[in-house]
Amino acid sequence: MNQEKLNELLHAWQLRLGLRDWDISAKLCHAYEMSNCWGEISWNLHEKIADIKVRYPGESPSHAMRPYDLEATLIHELLHIHFAPFDEVNNLAEEQAINALSKALVNLGRIYVEN
Ligand SMILES: [Zn+2]
Repeated sequence: MNQEKLNELLHAWQLRLGLRDWDISAKLCHAYEMSNCWGEISWNLHEKIADIKVRYPGESPSHAMRPYDLEATLIHELLHIHFAPFDEVNNLAEEQAINALSKALVNLGRIYVEN
């Protein structure tokens, strides 16, 4: 995985998820550049701008219970944009719903396979 491949994945999933009217960037990050998680997102709902950070493969968060799936993580963060109008605050139910949806979506049509 490199930044160029991540940009391709982002573009493909942005279209699949109906987010083409958003200006979204995604960046591969090291552990020290983000919180102790696989991915994170910040957004501006009114300007339709979002910034996503995903970890470099091989740099799992300390509490990770399952193998890192970068593509599912990217989808997870993108789905937060769809949930954003309902609630500005993250909560457990939303996280669980987004985890279930991102897992289902990546299994339906994974794009990236590590060589
Ligand atoms: Zn989340």
